This record gives sequence, structure tokens and C-alpha cells, in this order.
Amino acid sequence: MALLGVPAHRLRTLHCILRSVASRPCSSCRTNAAPANNREVSCTFGTRDPMDWSDTTEQAAFRSEVRSFVQERLPDRYRQPASRHNWQHDRSSAIAEESEAAMSWTAALGERGWVAPHWPREYGGADLTSMEQFIFNQEMAFAGAPGAASVHGVAMLGPTLIVHGTEEQRREYLPKILSAEAVWCQGYSEPASGSDLASLQIRATRDGDDYVVNGQKIWTSGAGTADWVFALVRTEPDAPKHRGISFVMADLKTTGISVRPIIDMGWGSELNETFFEDVHIPVSQRVGEENRGWYVGMTLLDFERSGISNAVGLQRDVIDLVDAATNEERDKSQLDRTPILRGLLADRYIETNVGLQFSLIIISMQASGQVPNHEASVAKLFMSERGQAVARTGTQVFGLYSNLWPDDGDTSPRAIATAHYAPMGAHHTTASVMSIPSTIAGGTSEIQRNIIATRGLGLPRG
Ligand SMILES: Cc1cc2nc3c(=O)[nH]c(=O)nc-3n(C[C@H](O)[C@H](O)[C@H](O)COP(=O)(O)OP(=O)(O)OC[C@H]3O[C@@H](n4cnc5c(N)ncnc54)[C@H](O)[C@@H]3O)c2cc1C
Repeated sequence: MALLGVPAHRLRTLHCILRSVASRPCSSCRTNAAPANNREVSCTFGTRDPMDWSDTTEQAAFRSEVRSFVQERLPDRYRQPASRHNWQHDRSSAIAEESEAAMSWTAALGERGWVAPHWPREYGGADLTSMEQFIFNQEMAFAGAPGAASVHGVAMLGPTLIVHGTEEQRREYLPKILSAEAVWCQGYSEPASGSDLASLQIRATRDGDDYVVNGQKIWTSGAGTADWVFALVRTEPDAPKHRGISFVMADLKTTGISVRPIIDMGWGSELNETFFEDVHIPVSQRVGEENRGWYVGMTLLDFERSGISNAVGLQRDVIDLVDAATNEERDKSQLDRTPILRGLLADRYIETNVGLQFSLIIISMQASGQVPNHEASVAKLFMSERGQAVARTGTQVFGLYSNLWPDDGDTSPRAIATAHYAPMGAHHTTASVMSIPSTIAGGTSEIQRNIIATRGLGLPRG
């Protein structure tokens, strides 16, 4: 069996990895085995009973509905593989073409409740099952279609308000998330509180019907283009550290809030410092009970860590890389000179299939009413590290084009002759640089390993 000229021992690796992540025993070797990527895998190591991940008739119909919808309604701006534009940036862009693309895509998805497909219908979602969400995310990711609202609003705050908010808060805030009238950002981390988040210091003092907030948040992604922030603040400094925290929401235009961009190594300014100086936040903008915000905040992190579209997006990246490496127009000399690239691409292909299996395990847990915990950490750890590997392989596929940045405007004859590859190379430069923080954001790899060791393997705390 050959895949991109990969020797059999690598395929044996694929078989072993798939066995280790699946959950149903093989009838011949009694170890676990599963097919990859919704398709049946032919097992060269004996007969087995594959788990059936193929779509049911209803799921296939839903998949086809999503695919047709995306084909018909996705704005042109989001159709180029090398130009995966940032929806949140587009929404607030002064260039009409960009803001119109963001808003028309939001409106199109909104017609079917697909801005937040996992929310209940009564709050404007589509009440999709876990498997339907997976199919939806898979089709969106394969098309390179962006979600049409900030992830902080749709994937994090919205579900948290549905669980912990008052009905008044749900009616006030949820529709504005769906219509993109309010884009949210997350104010958790502080300069001295990241992994040990419960040590946070920003102070909220009660003053009548308001809290007066003083302190600083850091690494607030997207605060420069967001409208509102949800934040954890300390309301009871003398209580044990997890017990004196409250969860509040604030309009970023409130007097006393200022946002200062941090320029990252990709020359972007997505990350920010957010300062609070005598900021009055009405008590009605607190979610959950006073001093019980830690538990509200952790519900939200569970939503953050169970994100599943990553594996599918990476699969698409690998397919793009294979296309680029084998395209007729391309100067193949690099591939000929470095056959090792074939092995690297095959490894990335294997890994993204394994990542998809992790996602499917999480989906099947959710579908049966279980809350993924260390399983979500396994998926996050694996996919963030493998995402970095895909990005590094991308820079190898594009060779010297990977030294370009998107705005370099390379006008050399060679770049013009291969105009198709210059932007793709530049895209992979950005992807490679921006993949580096993925093992920090949302909980570092070390913290994920701690969770897997203690909660997954039952090992003692260090
Ligand atoms: C791209 C990006 C986007 C982000 N977006 C947001 C956002 O929108 N909102 C927000 O609030 N925050 C955001 N963050 C912050 C992020 O949550 C923190 O960076 C992360 O939790 C780590 O905290 P820290 O940076 O303070 O590192 P620290 O916690 O100081 O960790 C430093 C190092 O020590 C290790 N370490 C710490 N504790 C342990 C331990 N117990 N065992 C083993 N090793 C340990 C860590 O793994 C790390 O290697 C973002 C970060 C990045 C990189």
C-alpha cells in the first residue's frame, strides 16, 4: 500500500495510532481500531469490525444542505484558499467591500440559525445535535468559510449566558451576538495571572448599583475590534482565591476602559492590554452570583476547549499543501531534491486524521450527554502541536516563497511567473508564525499535560 510514496512502515504507524485512539476492539487483534475521516479504512493487519462513522441518511442530507448553502452564499472574498480573511477584522473595516462581505455572510448564516448553530432555537440558534455541528464545522472548514461572529461571543459567552445568565441578560445580549452588533472579547489573563488564573488581582468594589473596577488585563484577543468584554474580577479580596471572584460584562466604550495593542511577531495587533481605571459597571451586568464567578468562568472555558473545527481546518491545510506540492505548474525540482517532503506530508496527513478521531471521540461523548474533560485537553494538546507541524511543513513546501509576508508585494519576474505561489507562500509564513502561540492560548501544553496526568491517568499532583 502506498500513499504519496510513503514506505509501509509509516502506514503501519497510521494503523497503530488509529488503534490507540479508537474505542471499539478489532475482532482479530482485540486492540482498538477505527476508520479515519468518516471513510472505511482497509486494514492490512487482519480483519476487524470498523466503527461506522459514515453519515446516516439524515446526516448526509444535512451535509449536502450545508455544502450547497456555502457554495451559493459564501462571499467571494472568503473563497480563496490563500486568503483566509479574518471576519472580525472585516466587520470593522473602513473598506466597504470587506465590511459588506462580513455582514452579508452573517445575515446569510443568520437566516438558518447557523451563526450559532449549537444554541437553542428559542435564542436564535439551530439546536443542532453534536454530530450535526460536527458536519457543519467540517463543511465550513473545508470551504475555508469563516464563522460569522466572534468566537468569544458565539462559542463562549453565549452558551455561558444560556446556562448562568438571567432571562433578561439572554434577551439583551444574545441577539446582538447573532447580528454582529456586539463583538466580544475575553478579559481573563493578567500580567501575573495566566495559568494560575485564580490568582487574578483586578479589583471590583461595590458602590451602590455599580462595581468600580481598577486594574489591568492582558492578552485580550481582538479587543481592538470588539465592542464588549467579559471579565473575571476580584470582588472579595479576603476570601480563598477561587471564592472571591465575579464574572462581569462591560461595554468597551465605558469611561475609564482603554485598550492598547501589543504588536506580535507576525506584525499583527490582535493581542491587547486592557486597562480599567475607576470603571463603573452596573451590577446588572454581573453573570451569576457575586463571588461565584470562578464557576461561571470555568463553564465558559469548557466551551472554549471543546472546539472541534481545528482538526478539519488542518486537514484542509494538508490537502492544500499536497495540491501545491503536486500541481503541474509548480517547479517540482524542490520535491525531487527533497523526497523527505513526501514523508513529512504523509506524516501530517496521518496526524490530522488522528486529530479528527480525537474530535469524533469528543463529539460522541457530547452526543451521549457526557462532558469531555481530559479528553478535550488531549485534543487541544495534540492538535495545537500538530498544527505547528503542519505550518512548518507548509514553509518547507513553499521553500523561499515562505520568506514573503502577505504585504511584501514581491514583483520579481519569478514571483510574477508563479504568482499563484507567492501569496500561498506568504500565507504559510503567517500561518507558521501564528501557530506558535497556539500551544499557549487557551491553556498551555504543560497545563493540558497536567490535566491529562491527574484527571485522565489518575497520577498524583506534582
Ligand atoms: C495568542 C494568544 C491569545 C490569547 N488570548 C487571550 C484572551 O483573549 N483572553 C485572555 O484572558 N487571555 C488570553 N491569552 C492568555 C493565555 O490564556 C495565557 O497566556 C495562558 O493561560 C498562559 O499564561 P501566561 O502567559 O501568564 O504564562 P504562565 O502561566 O506564566 O506560564 C509560563 C510557563 O510556565 C508554565 N507553567 C505554568 N504553570 C505551570 C504548572 N502548574 N505546571 C507546569 N508548567 C506550568 C507554562 O506552561 C508556561 O510554559 C492569550 C494568549 C495567547 C498566546
